[in-house]
Amino acid sequence: MMRKRLNVNSNNDLDQLLNEVFTVSEEELTPFFERAYKLSRELFSDKLAFHAPGMVHFDTEFYTATDPYRFPSISVSGSQCSLNCEHCSGKLLETMISATTPEALWDACKKVKDRGGKGCLISGGSTPRGNTPMERFIPTIKRVKKELGIDVVVHTGVVYPDTVEGLRDAGIDGAMLDIIGSDETLREIYHLDLTADVFDKSMELLEENGIPMMPHIVVGLHHGKLLGEMNAIKMIAKYKPSSIIVVAFMPLDMTPMENVTPSSPMDIHV
Ligand code: SF4
Repeated sequence: MMRKRLNVNSNNDLDQLLNEVFTVSEEELTPFFERAYKLSRELFSDKLAFHAPGMVHFDTEFYTATDPYRFPSISVSGSQCSLNCEHCSGKLLETMISATTPEALWDACKKVKDRGGKGCLISGGSTPRGNTPMERFIPTIKRVKKELGIDVVVHTGVVYPDTVEGLRDAGIDGAMLDIIGSDETLREIYHLDLTADVFDKSMELLEENGIPMMPHIVVGLHHGKLLGEMNAIKMIAKYKPSSIIVVAFMPLDMTPMENVTPSSPMDIHV
């Protein structure tokens, strides 16, 4: 049977394509993969880039991490987080450099510069509103950009009008945020009493303010099952992100989800 050629710029066609991809059997996915590969070769180069996250120490025959200050993750809340998500319990923060005052943030960024690092990710735990408490650090971020000139990417969490202009004026190089497409996942996993459309609004605010964004989709966050991923893709498709990061949920020790079986590689591929 000939498949109708879809115009993915149309919302109806995108919905139809996603519905098909998310419901067909594994065998029936082959033509979609072929089409995706062809399209990707038409639009992008065939270079594959690997990035080694700073939170993991690598020492392999292919790559050895030399300096943790090359592009470190810095937490402006130390190990504190109001959400205590089921999949994390704040554990991810333990892998970051703690800088809970503007002075400590400046010192950490200065160290990156002095050691020849390229930049840093400024992150942290969440407030009860689902955002990283970035407000009082904005003047320091602005100074880092102006005086040190290193790359600064910020983990924003939910974006609110009261901080987006500050981030724009500080000249950050990008905003990263998880896009959760399911209200149930927001409540059960993130302990956030919000609805998924806050992420739609967050991306709208970032785009309106000209801040490059790199939305993340964490596949299998709902106890290893797919739930809000399709809606997350639909929301992201309304905007022009600089890149989309697909993260596979990985169970972390000492969290309520440590024994959850992650999604299959095929689910993540889709
Ligand atoms: S909000 Fe972030 S740091 Fe806090 S528990 Fe959830 S994933 Fe971890």
